[in-house]
Order: sequence, then structure tokens, then C-alpha cells
Amino acid sequence: MKQFMFECSNTDTLNFTNLDKLNIKLTEFKSWCLANNISKMIFQVYSEILEKNTINKVCSTIENVFPDAPYMGCSTSGNITDCQLSQAITIACTIFEFPSTQIKIYHYNLDDEVTDSITWKILEQAKANPWLKAIELFFTIPEHSSTRFCDGLSELRSDIQIFGGVACSDDITSDASCVFSKDGGYSENSVVAVFYGGNDFYVDSINVTGWKPLGRKFHVTKSDGCILYELDGIPAYDVYHKYLNIQNDENFFYNTLEFPLFYEHNGTTILRTPVASNADGSITMTSDMDIGSVVRISYGDPGTIIESINEDSKKLYEFQPDLLHIFSCAARRTFWTSKEPTYEIYPFKNISPSSGFFSHGEFLRTKGNLNQHNVTLVIAGMREGKKKELPSGIMMANEKVLSKIPLVSRLATFISVTSLELEEINNQLGLANDKLKTAAIIDGMTGLYNRKEIQSQIEKKLANTSNQNFSVAMFDIDNFKQVNDTYGHQEGDAVIIAFANILNNEHASYTEKLSAGRWGGEEFMLLLNDTDVSAAALIADLIRQCFANTSFPAVRTQTVSIGVTQANKDDNIDTLCTRVDTALYKAKKTGKNKVVVI
Ligand code: GH3
Ligand code: MG
Ligand code: MG
Repeated sequence: MKQFMFECSNTDTLNFTNLDKLNIKLTEFKSWCLANNISKMIFQVYSEILEKNTINKVCSTIENVFPDAPYMGCSTSGNITDCQLSQAITIACTIFEFPSTQIKIYHYNLDDEVTDSITWKILEQAKANPWLKAIELFFTIPEHSSTRFCDGLSELRSDIQIFGGVACSDDITSDASCVFSKDGGYSENSVVAVFYGGNDFYVDSINVTGWKPLGRKFHVTKSDGCILYELDGIPAYDVYHKYLNIQNDENFFYNTLEFPLFYEHNGTTILRTPVASNADGSITMTSDMDIGSVVRISYGDPGTIIESINEDSKKLYEFQPDLLHIFSCAARRTFWTSKEPTYEIYPFKNISPSSGFFSHGEFLRTKGNLNQHNVTLVIAGMREGKKKELPSGIMMANEKVLSKIPLVSRLATFISVTSLELEEINNQLGLANDKLKTAAIIDGMTGLYNRKEIQSQIEKKLANTSNQNFSVAMFDIDNFKQVNDTYGHQEGDAVIIAFANILNNEHASYTEKLSAGRWGGEEFMLLLNDTDVSAAALIADLIRQCFANTSFPAVRTQTVSIGVTQANKDDNIDTLCTRVDTALYKAKKTGKNKVVVI
């Protein structure tokens, strides 16, 4: 597998001199291919020029010289050859030297078919081409969410790697883009997929962000595709304004560029950059963000970026690729303006020849899931045949930027750590608050509601005139003083808890219907929702029987007397409680261990 590069330098119009030169170079290359028995190849065209006419001229020049070779390409925000910025139109021709290697290009036009039908087709084509090992994707800037497309492809056989980029234009803020291919022609709304595979074809891919989360977390509370409306219920623009003092002006994009939103999705870190702020306070993002995502503003720290690059370049170096395909976000190019646009990818230069472009979004499949990234560097290494011997004592590592960590980097770490500490304190306060709320309504000894709470629940029921079909039952354990006097307070407590447990169990079996509270020492109140007095009396009697059948080690058995009454529309808390108390008093007076209804 080898890469041959052809470049056209005139950025304004591709004049005939240029095309003639291209024609001559391609013709020479063709002779070389014939002499070396090379017949399998693909041409990939990266063009900073979006204009259809220009692109068509380049494509027909390729087609004239190589009528049988497949080609495809896309518009870009800058082209990369061997880790350096290359000319406005860059053509990478990859030749394959192993007979087993297979390659196919599919072009899906989004004007003709919906996302689901495209992902379905790719799944079917993957089945039909069992040699498939990797899919390289080229997307025009999607009008809507690409999540559905990515999720659809996550069903592919798990060992198939997917990588690629979203086409871009030299104006990074513009949403104009195109892809093109031999079969599908020029399109402003398409996906082109290149299938690679075969027994002797190997592929490995990495992604590098290097951006660090900064400060507090926000929940995405309102979003629709690429439009981010609210974070924690606050208009998204206000968050950028409040925390970073970024104004809603023509520099919004460039000012927010260094501060994309950072979140976890499918176990992978994803970045999303704001593109524009809208009149309604929303922000248009580079790609969609799901409601419920937990995001943080993040910060591009040159030291962290270079560290991750050095780490990942080692991984690719060990893979020993024949060539690299590089998809780097146009935002990263802008980020490194003080250096060179390709500053961060130099460490990959010594690994193998490379080609690629600055993109509007980057695709990579990790842990089985395909994700669309932003502000990310995706690099795929490809190889035919087994690994070669590694030359010793290699190379790479970018210039050490870490010798003195800049103040801004230290401040970013300080803010991040303080925010995490505050979040932890907040979590603990939240937990303590929940406990306090529970303690305020629950009786500590029995776990039932306390008197204040059960009384308040009854008052609420009485206030709700549309929902007054309910009853109450009041319980008082019989001859309880004797228990205390004879067996001690502890044994008395055990009897109270045993009775409360029966109420709790009843509560569980009737779920929403019953609400039980401790009214006083050994007195309890039960609120029976949607229950008339006769049903309430039956339930009360079941509780009475259950308690009478409970045996205690010392006390042996104990009984309870119960008053039951149904609420009527003229009741207030006093009239209702007086009536149920009178019923209970009657039960006590007429022999105890019984239910009396009034
Ligand atoms: P009656 O059948 O008429 O209800 O007789 P009784 O002995 O149960 O009389 P009463 O209801 O007036 O007695 C309540 C007793 O309950 C008084 C008090 O000492 C005891 N008591 C109240 N709260 C607790 C408690 O939390 N634990 C224990 N062990 N005893 C309590
Ligand atoms: Mg009592
Ligand atoms: Mg009693």
C-alpha cells in the first residue's frame, strides 16, 4: 500500500495550465503503474474550492487518464499532506499491492433517501462484503442530527472500524460543503463511504482531544438537533456570557472556539463548539446534543494536547502503518494560529506518509459506538501485510511545551478542582437536606409518619372538596400502662414497634390507599383513601386480629381498640378527630379489642 500525492496550487480558478500539469503528472504515474503491475487504486480529492465546475474538471482529468479507477472527495478547510498544509486541491492516490485487498466506494444522496434507509443499506452492504474491515465516511455538513446515523451504524459487526470527517469550506463558520464520487457525482447533501478490507489489510485508529473540562457542570435542559436552547434552564448564550464574558457579536464564534462543551457519550469524551448565538438566547452548535447530557465548558490547554498527541502517536507508530488518513477539526487549526496550522500533527510525520484535511466534524467508532466529534483529531493508520521490524530509537515527541506550565493552565486547574470540591460539598448538602426533610415528617421510633405529617395529610384531604371519599381509623393499645409497669419500658417499646410494623405491612399491601401515622405514645392514626366506612372497618378489624395474634416473649399477647369514621363534606380536622376519638372511646368502654364505627 503506497500513497502518491498530486496537488494543484491555484486557489482562485483552476486554470488550464494547472489541469494540463495534472494531466501530465497523472499520465506519467499511469506509466509507472503499468510498469509495476499496479491495477488496484483509489483517488481521494480534497478541495478547498467548493465550486462544482472546478471540482468536475479535476475529476474528469482523473477519469480521462484512469477510466477504471474509483475516485471520491470532499470540500475542506485546508488540506494535509505528510502532516503539513498542502495546496488548495490535493489528490491522494492510494495503490494496493496485495491481491486480497478490496476497496469499494458507495455514495448515498440525502436528497433522495432518509438516514435510516442509508444506514440500513450500509449494514446490508457490509453483510454482502464479508471482507470489510473499515469504513471511511465523508459527510456533507448535516442539516439535522447525525446521532441517528451514527447509532444506526453501531449495529455493524463490532470489529469493523469506522472513521472519517465532515466536509468543510475555507470559511469555518459557513455551512456550505460538498462531497463527490465517480458514481454519485457532485453533491451538497450526501454521504460517501469507502469500504476497505481483505485478509492482508489492517487498520487502527486514534482520536485526540486534549481539551480539559473547566468548572461546574451543566445539564442540557432544552435542545433540538444542533440548537442548544438551555443549560440548567438558563438560555445557553447567557452561560457563555456569564462565565466567560463572551459578547453576542461577530466575534462570538472565534471567542467561544477555545471553550467548547465537553461531555461523555457512549463512554467517550465528546466536544461540541458553539457556531453562532441566536436572537432567542440559543446557540447553534457544530453538531447535535442530547437533552439530559451533563456538560462542562472546556479549555484547550496546549500542554495537555501535546502530551496526548505524544502518547497516541506512539500507539500508531507501533502499528507500523503504510499510510495515515488525518481528519482534524478546522477549529484546531484556528486554535494553533500562534504556531503553524499543523503544529500538533508533526509527531505523526515520521510514522508514514499521510493525507487528510481540516474538517467540520470527525467520525470515529470506539467501543462499538460510532460518534461524531468536534474539535477532535482522528487519525486512521492502514497497512497491507504483516508488521515490519521496528527501527530502533525512534523519534517524534513534539517540542516540550511543558517545561514551564503557563499561568492560565494553572488557573484552569485551580478552577476545575475548586468546582469539583464545591460540587462534592453540594452533593453532601443535598443528601443532608433529604435526611432533614425525612426526619421532619417521620416518627423516629416506628418509621411511620409523625403526628404533624399525618394530620397535615388529613387536612389536605379535607381541603380537596373533589376528593372526599375517605375514612380515618384511630388505634389505642389496650392496657398499655400495665405492660410498662410489669415488663418495663423496653418491652413496651417492642410492643409499639410491633404494632407499627403491622400498620406498615398493611400499608404496603394497599399501596397508595393507606397512610399511617403515630398520633401519640401508643396511639396511631390511619388515613384510608377512597375507602368508605364499612371497608375501613373491615381493614381496621384485620389489623386488630393480626395484632391480637402476635406473640411477644414476655408480654405474650396484646390487643388494640379502634375507632373508625368516614369524612363528610362539612368536616374540619377538629370535627373529624373528635368523632373518631369518640368511636375509640366507645370501643374502650364496651370491652376493648374491638372496632367501633361512627
Ligand atoms: P387503655 O386500654 O385505656 O388505653 O389503657 P392504657 O393503659 O393503655 O392507658 P393509656 O392509653 O392512657 O396509657 C398510655 C401509656 O403509654 C402511658 C405511657 O406511660 C405509655 N407510653 C407512651 N408513650 C410510650 C412509649 O414511647 N414507650 C413506652 N414504653 N410507653 C409509652
Ligand atoms: Mg393511650
Ligand atoms: Mg392505651
